[in-house]
Amino acid sequence: MKKSEFLGALAGVLLAASVLQAQAAATIVIQNLNAAGEGFNDPTPAAPVGGNAGTTLGQQRLIAFQTAANVWGATLTSSQTIVIRASFEPLTCTATSAVLGSAGAWNIWRDFAGAAKVNTWYPQALANKLAGVNLSAGDPVDGQDIRARFNSRLGLFADCLPGSPFYLGLDNNHGPNVDLVTVLLHEFAHGLGFQTFTSGSSGAQFDNRPSIWDHYIYDDTAKLLWVDMTNSQRAESALNTGKLTWSGAGVLTSLPTVLSLGTPSLTIGGPAAGSAAGPYNISTASFGAPLSSSAVTSTLMPVVDTGTSTGLACNPLSAANALAVNGRIALVDRGTCTFAIKAKNVQNAGAIGAIVVNNVAGSAPALGGADPTVTIPVISVSLADGNLLKTALSKRTRTSSGVTALMSVNASQYAGADIFGRARLFAPNPFQSGSSVSHFDTIAFPNLLMEPAINGDLLHAVTLPQDLTFALLKDIGW
Ligand SMILES: [Zn+2]
Repeated sequence: MKKSEFLGALAGVLLAASVLQAQAAATIVIQNLNAAGEGFNDPTPAAPVGGNAGTTLGQQRLIAFQTAANVWGATLTSSQTIVIRASFEPLTCTATSAVLGSAGAWNIWRDFAGAAKVNTWYPQALANKLAGVNLSAGDPVDGQDIRARFNSRLGLFADCLPGSPFYLGLDNNHGPNVDLVTVLLHEFAHGLGFQTFTSGSSGAQFDNRPSIWDHYIYDDTAKLLWVDMTNSQRAESALNTGKLTWSGAGVLTSLPTVLSLGTPSLTIGGPAAGSAAGPYNISTASFGAPLSSSAVTSTLMPVVDTGTSTGLACNPLSAANALAVNGRIALVDRGTCTFAIKAKNVQNAGAIGAIVVNNVAGSAPALGGADPTVTIPVISVSLADGNLLKTALSKRTRTSSGVTALMSVNASQYAGADIFGRARLFAPNPFQSGSSVSHFDTIAFPNLLMEPAINGDLLHAVTLPQDLTFALLKDIGW
């Protein structure tokens, strides 16, 4: 991402056109950067799909881009054309994982006429809107507000997530494939300003000045906004899972319209719980039954009936082990096989719920994956919390542990909000470069467009009552 500083000498000129030219919508232009025969110009014939009438692969890609741009164009208000320069090109991939694409603000600006906050970085598209002029007029490269790169090989080659290409239809009927329009709506939002330009890993601001985002990020523990923190406080805050929040008034008032009341919770009790008793920080799974107010509660049992290891549950459980977890909540270690396989194995053994223990330090991992035959609720806890549970379970017999787990929801708290109703931002420990801070938390339910992973159940929505993305962008000035 390139960043340029405002040329102060132009300030008087730029003042003239602000605000009054605001329109009911914004125009977004896609500029195709691919050479002949590549990317958007790929001549491979393509059958019409899901309302996308393009007749070549390249045409269909461009139509999907314009469709996503039109959604944002109908939502935003700006007198200034928003320019997205885009290409499809080979990006990092393997047989099992791939970079789908990326986009971000190309330029950032500060102290332009119309800026609501002084000494603060704004993404160019927003800066242009607030200034009411094109701040980089005449510059063909810096005139791009957003630069977007997408993976041209995704799903089409054996070394690039084979069999999982972008779905190029416009109707969201993507099945198991990656819905390109959804990915684009997400990536364009980053480019429009759904990101901080401050480093979340070091806490250092770009050029020692905050981003507009940092005026709204609030840490529940430090009880400070990011603009009022030191670098080390911000770096610590970026790891404060569940307590890094968005304080903007728009998201705060809109959140009850979008998110469900009831945040997933785990409470441990029972005569043998000892110091393990109490509430836990958890993450949830993208498969299995969602937690609800009708709690799942039972004895907590590890998936092996001897030793101190809880086991991996990557294979069907032994008969004795199955007896131990039957009708119980099973404790399983992360690793070796997918979360969904573990869940299915303990479900087949009769478990009514599963708790996955992280195998590396840090916060409870979000449990990705899919298996529609998993019908029990599945959650995760951190390695440290898992060790606490294992200590409590070490005194168990073959059929009883004296430790109970209550998997439920905290009915007074929205799924994806803190106890004060502020939206939680993604703040895993360890830090995840490219994901931490500049997304909503994965615990949000229903799923939000701006979670770090694209969920299959997203609608092509950026506004209320389905989604909070535009509410957040309005908080920063859109
Ligand atoms: Zn993202």
